[in-house]
Amino acid sequence: MNLIKYFIKLPFIQKILQDKTSGKLSSGYLFYSLDSQTNKIAVDALAMGLLCKNNGCFVCEDCVKVENNSHPDVLYYPKDKSFSVTDAKDIIDQAYKKPMLSSIKIIVINDIDNSSVEAQNKLLKIIEEPPQNVIFLVSSANIDKVLPTIKSRLIKIEISSFTKEQIKIIFEDYKNKNNFELAVLKGDGYIGRTFNILNNDDYINLYNFCKNIVCNLKKSSDVINFLSSKLDKDKFNDILKILSSMYRDLLVFYCGKENLLSDERLVKEFSVIKDEFSEKSIIAILHLLDETNERQYSNVSINLLFETLLVNILEVKYTCK
Ligand SMILES: [Zn+2]
Repeated sequence: MNLIKYFIKLPFIQKILQDKTSGKLSSGYLFYSLDSQTNKIAVDALAMGLLCKNNGCFVCEDCVKVENNSHPDVLYYPKDKSFSVTDAKDIIDQAYKKPMLSSIKIIVINDIDNSSVEAQNKLLKIIEEPPQNVIFLVSSANIDKVLPTIKSRLIKIEISSFTKEQIKIIFEDYKNKNNFELAVLKGDGYIGRTFNILNNDDYINLYNFCKNIVCNLKKSSDVINFLSSKLDKDKFNDILKILSSMYRDLLVFYCGKENLLSDERLVKEFSVIKDEFSEKSIIAILHLLDETNERQYSNVSINLLFETLLVNILEVKYTCK
């Protein structure tokens, strides 16, 4: 389904559009969640709602132009990969020019956290004292990296993750893909993450690979069976994420709280392997995964990290028994 159509009906966007009708708009909004893509769609939906006389009709010139990212009164930043001092200077120039088609001008800054302190500081003055009729729509997937002085000038809106039912509706066009169920399950309720899994034909293999580790890593001679596949950073990162959520589920299962499982499909496997673990060992394995996750950004070879992880999982499994 059309993502902007879905987002524009959400209560947090509707609330701002009501403020538009009653003349109570703020000069800046900051959307944040862990998923950059989710934030960007919220920004696009609000931009459309603000410029359209009918709060987003999808047929008028304003709506069509916003949807195509070609509305002359919506300016998008960063121009390159990350928000820069040059972008900030450009914004200061552009903000004082009158809008062309509408009564307001919208300045979009996506992933503002992905920028230098210098660039954010440069922006500060114009955000503090914006020209009349300029509205800033800012997004961030890492709110801790946004300068407090910037945050304090914007209305902050946290976008919570969607439920599995919502994700199924949003991505209904993909329901025939063989990794659809897995994407709904493992996308954590976020648009970008779900989309990445849907477009990753290798994901089912990774999932089965991880399931195999959890269920069939029993002795040192098994380790070698898992080391043959070629690993790159993205793949390793996916493996760590999948393993963490599987072991977390195993812990939940171990504690008898089946109704809290994030992936109910593993119940059968878990009942078979349950006795090989203790609660303490599963917690220790989750710690190992966290540690490995932090170390993957250091200069250690990924293949070595992975091998060490598997050996340590085995060791923990037996010492905690
Ligand atoms: Zn419209």
